[in-house]
Amino acid sequence: MKVEIIPCLQDNYSYLIIDETNNDACIVDPSEAKPVINFIEKEKINLKYILNTHHHFDHIGGNKELKRKYNSIVVGYKYDTGRIPEINILVEDNQIWKRDNFEAKIIHIPGHTTGHISFYFFNEKIIFTGDTLFSLGCGKIFEGTYEEMFASLSKIKNLPEDTKIYCGHEYTLQNSKFCIEHDPQNLNLQNKIIKIKEKLENNAPTVPSTIQDEKECNIFLRAKNVESFSKLRDLKDNF
Ligand code: ZN
Ligand code: FE
Repeated sequence: MKVEIIPCLQDNYSYLIIDETNNDACIVDPSEAKPVINFIEKEKINLKYILNTHHHFDHIGGNKELKRKYNSIVVGYKYDTGRIPEINILVEDNQIWKRDNFEAKIIHIPGHTTGHISFYFFNEKIIFTGDTLFSLGCGKIFEGTYEEMFASLSKIKNLPEDTKIYCGHEYTLQNSKFCIEHDPQNLNLQNKIIKIKEKLENNAPTVPSTIQDEKECNIFLRAKNVESFSKLRDLKDNF
């Protein structure tokens, strides 16, 4: 398996998970169809599955067109059938979703939306976290509670440290400014910021990150309890 990063819209990332033995692929969160189609046509990829982390338009915008063009199957959260367009396969918390050579554990991570899920490809040690965990940040709490978001982040935090994190947006540099303001002595964070700037200067994405990096540097994962987490989340909303 390899992961191809497809930049979409302003600052979204969609991800193609490609099975190199047969060129079958899943797309995670196609914000829009066009950049995905361009890549697929060029590389002769069979787009078999569309995996949605949540229903926001910048994560599902390409569902309809991609499904129509490639006959792909749409996978999404069981209780979001009303708001994930073209959904075919309904998944729920802790379920193993397995098709062809693709195998992922579904982890329900509410907070940003009530139906937000992540796809954890445990064999490859990669996770797609949508708008729940970003590199050096976390999603805004739109539908859930602070408690839910804190619990969701804790679930992700407990995965193996070398798990690679692919998140929904390129927000890393902006997020780093908030982290360093509230955690100025953190050497790991200082070093990570240097690497982030290098990547961006070379027009490279700052993803994937790792669980280890985020535990060391992401102030939201470093919050000890829901009270301090909530305070940080409020401060970030006005940052
Ligand atoms: Zn969102
Ligand atoms: Fe988003």
